Amino acid sequence: MAKYTEAKCRMCRREGCKLFLKGDRCFTDKCAYDRRPYAPGQHGRARKKVSEYAVQLREKQKARRTYGVLERQFRGYFAKAEMAKGVTGTNLLVILERRLDNVVFRLGFANSRTQARQLVRHGIFTLNGHKVDIPSLQVKVGDTISVPEKNRKIPVLAEAQEVIARRGCPSWLEADGASFKGTVKAIPQREDIQFPINEQLIVELYSK
Ligand code: SF4
Repeated sequence: MAKYTEAKCRMCRREGCKLFLKGDRCFTDKCAYDRRPYAPGQHGRARKKVSEYAVQLREKQKARRTYGVLERQFRGYFAKAEMAKGVTGTNLLVILERRLDNVVFRLGFANSRTQARQLVRHGIFTLNGHKVDIPSLQVKVGDTISVPEKNRKIPVLAEAQEVIARRGCPSWLEADGASFKGTVKAIPQREDIQFPINEQLIVELYSK
């Protein structure tokens, strides 16, 4: 399985914004982007003329890296988004948001999407009562994600209740930390996706 090997903080510095890829560390003064808010490498601080293409490319990379999706899969999502009814850019973000690993993260069962993906891969969760290990699975309205009794002692899950209280849960999901359960109440809308992204630039990039 292909996977990212680049240092996570380097990605934030490359994209010029915090992508929050390292869980709680991102909110501490150890955040590499807060310390060095410029691109990595020898010429990171140099002023460059930025082309329209570069702006579009960076926006696509930002979305891809935030959700931890590789290029080929991201293109596949874009093709799906184009075929679906509605606005392509919004459809794309909704598809990304509906990934099981993202939902686990949003529910507060993991500190980052990377950790959520790892937990899903290890078969820690059940979806509608059945064991799942596919992070890219698309959740549907009414789906329930639970942690079976035997897995509830895993440290990050044992803290879920506290994380949910601290971080909150998006309105399209319902998290119940006490019973280690989350429910998909609705399909996410554009306004539910809060991180700063201009999806129109991604559409323009792929439409060239
Ligand atoms: Fe990005 Fe800072 Fe988190 Fe590193 S610690 S992943 S630089 S937000």
